[in-house]
Amino acid sequence: MDENPTTSSQLSPDELERYARQLGPGVLSAEGQMRLKESTALVTRVGGMGGPAALMLAMAGVGRVIIAHGGEMISPDLNRQVLGSEAVIGHPRAEPFADYLRTMNRFIEVEAIDHEPLAEELDELAARSDIFVSCPPTFEERLRLNQAAVKANIPLVDAAQWGMTGTLIVVDPGESACLQCVYPQAPPFEELFPVVGAISAATGSLAALEAIKILSDTGEPLAGKMLTYDGFKARVTTLELTRRGDCPCCG
Ligand SMILES: [Zn+2]
Repeated sequence: MDENPTTSSQLSPDELERYARQLGPGVLSAEGQMRLKESTALVTRVGGMGGPAALMLAMAGVGRVIIAHGGEMISPDLNRQVLGSEAVIGHPRAEPFADYLRTMNRFIEVEAIDHEPLAEELDELAARSDIFVSCPPTFEERLRLNQAAVKANIPLVDAAQWGMTGTLIVVDPGESACLQCVYPQAPPFEELFPVVGAISAATGSLAALEAIKILSDTGEPLAGKMLTYDGFKARVTTLELTRRGDCPCCG
């Protein structure tokens, strides 16, 4: 643990106890933990991937977690949406999901938005966020988040899933490839694509880990690479990404 009294003194003894298992060599410094506390992260949406991502960010001590998710919970959501429960079926998700997150960490604030934010709202959210964690099912929404993050010059973690495969991209605006560099054309989309909750949670947790690293200035972020875990074949691949000079978003 960082013994520097200047940085340690900014976290209360209760907080230092709370986060004791993630403080030390190979994990976070007290200064990094303080940075998390002072950070705001937007997670949209908070279903199969974004739910576990928001949960891990909240539990790790990100000071303000903003979650955005519209619509009501339906029974097929419960194979993967860990912030929900049988009791939420038929009800809007954002508020009960936020309530659950609040029960997990008394030291943080959670804000709920009951819809998928549009471009103007994302600009406002980007202005008061330090990072976007993008977990929507549609490419259109992912692009919108990418554009807002690049415009505001804040990092973006983009998580995607299909079947038993999860994919992760980290965008460091102006430095590494953005989502639109990687996908000049929208990839194919199925409304009711198959997905196993275990891969959703794994991908969401890895997205949260990247966000925690970036916000706390710990380790080496994934920026400039695409990580894919093919759970069906138990294979991990990492691809180098390059920026496109003619990218309409970041070029
Ligand atoms: Zn780009």
